[in-house]
Amino acid sequence: MDGTLTVGTKINTTSNDVLTVKEFLAEDDESELYKVTYQGEEKALKWYKKSFLYSNKDIQAFYENLKTNINNGKPSNEFLWPIALTEFDGDTFGYIMDIIPSEYRTLSEFMIGRVNFNSYRKRIDACLYIVNAFKNLHDKGLNYQDLDACEFWINPEKIKILISECDKIAQSDKEIGILGKPRYLAPEVVLGKAKPNNQTDRFSMAIILYIILCYNHPLEGKRSLESAISADLISKSYGSEAYFMMDPDPNNPNKPSETIHKNSIAIWNRLPNYVKEIFLKVFSQDSIKNQIDRPLEIDWLKILTRFRSDIVNCSCGNEVFTKNVESCKCENCNNTIQIPFKLCLSDYAIPVTKTSRIYKCQLNNTDNALAPVASVVPTKDTGKLHIWNKTKDTWDAKTPSGKSKTVAPESKIPLKSGIIFTVNGQEIKIEANKN
Ligand SMILES: [Zn+2]
Repeated sequence: MDGTLTVGTKINTTSNDVLTVKEFLAEDDESELYKVTYQGEEKALKWYKKSFLYSNKDIQAFYENLKTNINNGKPSNEFLWPIALTEFDGDTFGYIMDIIPSEYRTLSEFMIGRVNFNSYRKRIDACLYIVNAFKNLHDKGLNYQDLDACEFWINPEKIKILISECDKIAQSDKEIGILGKPRYLAPEVVLGKAKPNNQTDRFSMAIILYIILCYNHPLEGKRSLESAISADLISKSYGSEAYFMMDPDPNNPNKPSETIHKNSIAIWNRLPNYVKEIFLKVFSQDSIKNQIDRPLEIDWLKILTRFRSDIVNCSCGNEVFTKNVESCKCENCNNTIQIPFKLCLSDYAIPVTKTSRIYKCQLNNTDNALAPVASVVPTKDTGKLHIWNKTKDTWDAKTPSGKSKTVAPESKIPLKSGIIFTVNGQEIKIEANKN
């Protein structure tokens, strides 16, 4: 298969540079992808098909939007942001971006089981980075106009994410003539009642999070399996009659199928209530029909970091979702998982294990929400667990007998019941669990 551009073709960019086409890589409905040389480096060129541009309502607005995004720079490193724009070549043009490293796989591949996460904690980490990327995007006043599972790239080993197709990102409520794929759009966008904005993005983001954590599309329950796909059904399923498969309403017309959604049901039943609650809120009929109460990115970050803290590893390798920070049985090997200590934060407590971390957002600090402020580490000699100050600040601490101490950056606190230390103005108490 060849593209329309021949190898060796030189194309001018709007920044007075020249790129050289090296190799045709792939194509889809809207564009062809090439490997090119640009400023001495190998990059990718997305070259639009005329059919895509002509179906687009306003080519000039689309082109200008890309130019603005390039000038403003990427919101954060997770975005595979356009680097340079080409001049028009006849009726079409393209833009240059980095090449996605081969270790990254699309979320669509995870959905069909071609690739897997080797731990549930890594699923949560992927969600955390995705939410954080949306937060960075929204902080810059930008939104997605289009979203799809094949635009989320995840490195399953290192859990890094890349979001591609950033050409459809624009200022809130701005019309650049793109309508995304209904499966990932907020119902009001599917029905043409709203333009993409932060609220619509938050609905789309929740769909992606549900897919990662619960393996299926949240609105594709039993009902979507029953009838043949038609434009009318799509607009109903994702728009006027959208229904969350786990909505507990007894009249839910779109419950999960016991066979097809078996894994989704099983994982849903294991989720802590606070995780279920945020999904039930974002996919409630109030949120679907009236767009109210969609959780913010920071709400998700708080829930997901708490969830991450509540997972402990059994010696058999299984990850156990603890409840109420109490010792519990591993459902795989039936061993009892001991949780001797907990850390009491202002809103809830988390189990102390050697993988525990406290993130900034767990202390109600919303700047740089995913920065770890403390982690639990075993000492090299005795293997006893300690709490490690990972901030640049000295913490105040109080021993159980009331003595004041300070904890310098990089130093550690022994795990002793009754110690209280203060981070970011929030008290954290170490408490022994009464098992
Ligand atoms: Zn086990």
